[in-house]
Amino acid sequence: MVVCYRFAIGADTRLSSSFSKAFRKPGTIAPPSVYKISSVSSCHSDGISVMSRSARQPMGHPGSLVTPLTAGVLLALAGCVTSPDLPEAAVIEIVSGEDQIQGRGRVLHEPVVVRALDEAGLPVAGLRLRFSSFDPGTVVDPQSVTTDSLGQAAVSWTLGHVAGTQTLTASVPTRRGPIAEVTATARPGDFDIHIVFDNAVAVEHRTAIRNAAERWSAVLVGDLPDRVFERGFVPAYHCQGVEELAIPPGGVVDDVRLGVRIERDRDLAYRLGHCARRETEPLTMLAFWSVGAGILDATGADLEGWTTHLIGHLLGFGWAWGDRRRNAVRDEGLGADTHFPHPAAVAAFDAAGGAAWTGSKVPVQNHGPQWLVDVHWRESLMSNEIMSPDYTEDLQLKPFREMSLSAITVQAMAAIGYEVDVSEADAYTLPTPVVAAEPTAWRPGFRRWGDPENRTVAIFDASGRVVSVTRRR
Ligand SMILES: [Zn+2]
Repeated sequence: MVVCYRFAIGADTRLSSSFSKAFRKPGTIAPPSVYKISSVSSCHSDGISVMSRSARQPMGHPGSLVTPLTAGVLLALAGCVTSPDLPEAAVIEIVSGEDQIQGRGRVLHEPVVVRALDEAGLPVAGLRLRFSSFDPGTVVDPQSVTTDSLGQAAVSWTLGHVAGTQTLTASVPTRRGPIAEVTATARPGDFDIHIVFDNAVAVEHRTAIRNAAERWSAVLVGDLPDRVFERGFVPAYHCQGVEELAIPPGGVVDDVRLGVRIERDRDLAYRLGHCARRETEPLTMLAFWSVGAGILDATGADLEGWTTHLIGHLLGFGWAWGDRRRNAVRDEGLGADTHFPHPAAVAAFDAAGGAAWTGSKVPVQNHGPQWLVDVHWRESLMSNEIMSPDYTEDLQLKPFREMSLSAITVQAMAAIGYEVDVSEADAYTLPTPVVAAEPTAWRPGFRRWGDPENRTVAIFDASGRVVSVTRRR
C-alpha cells in the first residue's frame, strides 16, 4: 500500500498508536513531547482515514496511546512512503459475552469476545482493537487486543459501580472504523450465583436458567465471604462427577457456584445436590443440577420457573431448615402438621391471605410422595407459590410460568442466613379463601392427558391450555 502525506506540524501533535507503530523506526522516538497535525492530505483514501482520525481525536482520548515522535521523523514521512499493509475491518461483531448480569464492581463470569470481519465477511487477523467504557469504575483487561487468526479478540470486563445497563465499546482506535457495543447489567444486590454450564446445554435453556438464578439474586442481596480453594476442588463421587464444579488451585467461589449438566440418559429427569457447603449459614456453596434433555425440552416456557424452584432448594429452601421445621412428616408420619414457624415468614403468610388459617404456620407439605413432603409450602394452601411442590401427586410437573416468588419464601430464606430485599418479592395472594385448618385432599389443580403407549403426558392449566408435555419413565 502506498500512502502519501503532506502535513505541517504544530506544537501539540499527538499520534495514535497504530500510526506511530506503522512508521516507527528504531532510534526515532524522542523524549516525551506532543505535536499537533495542523493539516493533512493524502493521495490514498486510507491515508486520509488514518490521519484525519488521529487529528480529530481530542487530547487524551481514552485508549489513544500517545507516542511522541520528533519533528524530524514526521517530516521524513512527508511525500510518498511505502507502509506495511494495515489490516482493516468492515464490521466488528459480538461473538459472546453479551447481556451478562453481575454485581456492581464485579468481573463478568464470561469474557467478552468480538470478531473483526472485512467487507467479504472474512476474519481480519492482526487488527488492534480498543475496548473502553464510560461507566465509572469499569475495568477492562486488557484495554487493547490484537485479533487472532479467527479475527477474534477477548477481554475481561469488570462492571462499574452504578446499577443498570453498562456498555463496553470495541473499536479500531486509529481510523473511522466500525465499532461494536456490548451491554451488560449491573444488579443492585451483591449476591451472585456463578452458573457453569455443560457444553451440551442449549443456548435458550441457558437463558432460562440464568434468568432463574437472577430471580434469586434480586431477593437475596448480600455478599457472602469469598471461599478460596487453595488446592483446587475436584468433584467427588457424591457430586455425580459434575466436572463443571472443578476449581483450579487458588480458585475463588463468590458466592455460589452451580454446575449444570445434561444427563447422558435423555429420559432421566434430574438430580441435584450439594458438593461443598459453608461452615456457617447460609450453607450453600457448590451445588449441581444434572438434568435430562427430555425434561428440559418438555418444560418449555415453564423452564425458568421450574429452575427457580430447584435453585431455591439448592440455596437451602426446605433442605437447610434444620430444626426450624416443626412436626416433620419424616419424624411423625404422613399427615403431621409440618410447618415453618419463623415469625417474619408467618407475618408474610398472614399478609398474603393466610391470617384466617387456624392451623400451624407457615404450613408445609405433609402428604404425597415422600420426596415432596417437608420441603415445600403446602400445596392445598399455596399451590401458586414457586416453592410449593413442583410435582403433582401422580408425578406430573406443575405449570410454573405464573407462580410467584413471594415474601413468604424470601423471609424463609432470611431465616437460614441470607440478607434479603423483600421489596423485590412478587406480589402474592393465597389462591383460595383460607377458613380453617381442615385436612384437605390433594388437589393438583389441573387435569392431564396422556398416551400410555409412548408414555407421554400433556399437562393442562386450569383454563384447559396445554402447558407442557412430558415423557414418563
Ligand atoms: Zn421442590
